[in-house]
Amino acid sequence: MRLLEVADLRKVYTTRFGGNTVTALDGVDFAVEQGEYVAIMGESGSGKTTLLNLLAGLDKPTGGRIFLGDTELSAIKDRQLAAWRRENLGFVFQDFNLLDTFSLKDNIFLPLVLSGRGYNEMNTRLQPLAKKLGITELLEKYPYEVSGGQKQRAAVARALITEPQLVLADEPTGALDSRSSDELLDLFGQVNKAGQTILMVTHSAKAASHAGRVLFIKDGRVFHQLYRGDAPDSVFFGRISEALTLIAQGGIAHA
Ligand code: ADP
Ligand code: MG
Repeated sequence: MRLLEVADLRKVYTTRFGGNTVTALDGVDFAVEQGEYVAIMGESGSGKTTLLNLLAGLDKPTGGRIFLGDTELSAIKDRQLAAWRRENLGFVFQDFNLLDTFSLKDNIFLPLVLSGRGYNEMNTRLQPLAKKLGITELLEKYPYEVSGGQKQRAAVARALITEPQLVLADEPTGALDSRSSDELLDLFGQVNKAGQTILMVTHSAKAASHAGRVLFIKDGRVFHQLYRGDAPDSVFFGRISEALTLIAQGGIAHA
């Protein structure tokens, strides 16, 4: 079943002075099936963050359409967007975005508190998730009392506790050391195997090699894509690295 569809998506930024324009997305088309794990790679400035912002409804496209399930994002009224986002999407960011004055538990509960859920329901959802993420013993701690990898696991719990249709991750391993990064990628792999759809922006071929498919964006367009097929991570990693080299050399024609 198709979960996400992006059709001819365009975003042109107009600078405040002088009417200069920057075309950040120049007709992006792709679809994501329910249960897929898709990585998006592209050089700095290629439009990755713009794409995630549009998918999250945090900014409006200049043209084109985005569907999540049967819902077209532009049909959602502005005053309903925050609630829609909370009900349907989970976010994991490079810099974790945890509130320092909240314990990890209260950070994880936040989206449910905002949706008006009761404590018992929140706690019932949290316990198995915390166990799976290995943070049960850390829940009463504050973000500044735990490591980067532990913060990121709490951020993943916060993203998953609402049981979102889609998890959006922007460079989720970007601030982690290699061991925490491997742990996070294992975790994403497990969560995806359990059925969660994930869309992850990353600079890292290693991170991307955990996904089932990699989209390469360049100059605001989907330029190329690779499917894992039956390949193990190490083989897929090799193919991704090779594609990145070819793209940097201009050796792959437009998809
Ligand atoms: P990436 O995340 O791949 O590095 P971005 O989506 O951040 O790329 O940026 C794509 C292009 O759009 C870049 O040329 C960037 O300078 C430009 N851009 C991004 N945000 C804005 C903005 N708010 N105003 C003007 N230009 C922007
Ligand atoms: Mg970016």
